[in-house]
Amino acid sequence: MNLNLEHKNALVCGSSRGIGKAIALELASMGANITLAARSKDKLEVVKNELDTSKGQEHDYLIVDFSDSEGLRQSIETLVKLKNIHILINNTGGPKGGPIRAAKTDEFTSAFHNHLVCNHILLKNVLEGMKSDNYGRVINIISTSVKQPIDNLGVSNTIRGAVASWGKTMANELGQFGITVNNVLPGYTDTERLEEIITNKSEKMGVSFEEASKKFEENVPLKRFAQPSEIAMAVGFLASPSAAYISGINLPVDGGRTKSL
Ligand code: NAD
Repeated sequence: MNLNLEHKNALVCGSSRGIGKAIALELASMGANITLAARSKDKLEVVKNELDTSKGQEHDYLIVDFSDSEGLRQSIETLVKLKNIHILINNTGGPKGGPIRAAKTDEFTSAFHNHLVCNHILLKNVLEGMKSDNYGRVINIISTSVKQPIDNLGVSNTIRGAVASWGKTMANELGQFGITVNNVLPGYTDTERLEEIITNKSEKMGVSFEEASKKFEENVPLKRFAQPSEIAMAVGFLASPSAAYISGINLPVDGGRTKSL
């Protein structure tokens, strides 16, 4: 199996913490040069210094806020003048929770913008480089809600479906160039976002954080949360030369939690 990403350039969004950071670490360990992207320069500096450089990899970062698409457009246009991007990881913070009937209309608009519009801006800018270097992997980090909506994540469930359909449509169109597009659907993953979700739940239920965590874990056949590195390893495989014939899929990495096939 060929998992070697030497001489490949990867742009990993939302990589200052959590799943995005774990993906950046994994792809770097497979030999890729990483461009990190998130809002905080200080956090990006710290992650950059943790990335593997043992195979001569060179890493940098973009300071971008996905709520500012014009700023994002300028940053990616500048980056692709310097180097072609071969692996694009679309990832950012999830929309705020809550029942869908309580959602304000502008919550849908901003989630659509931060998730779908930004993915599209990035993909359009990296596409020519992928084509000319004959290597393209686009991996969207979404959620298992694509297959089974999650209670109390109304806006998120809605937008994730749109991103999954965007990815599948892109996969249909870009296959002719040997470019694959796949969606990775994490289950409960031990990150600060999950901690925030469990804290909210425990306050609502009037139980301790530990009790609320247990309730979440009981829903998972494997009876535990994923480590971010476990999501990252699935992404690493999809980004590798060996995954050249896998495209247009939704891959749950959820310990078996999703009830659909
Ligand atoms: P996280 O909140 O821990 O990390 C999100 C990353 O995106 C951070 O680096 C953050 O700085 C960055 N980010 C957030 N808003 C941004 C913005 N406006 N502009 C630029 N960067 C921004 O989240 P996570 O747990 O690592 O999850 C990553 C994705 O996977 C999210 O969309 C999340 O909803 C989804 N997901 C997470 C879980 C889980 O259990 N952790 C489960 C299913 C889906």
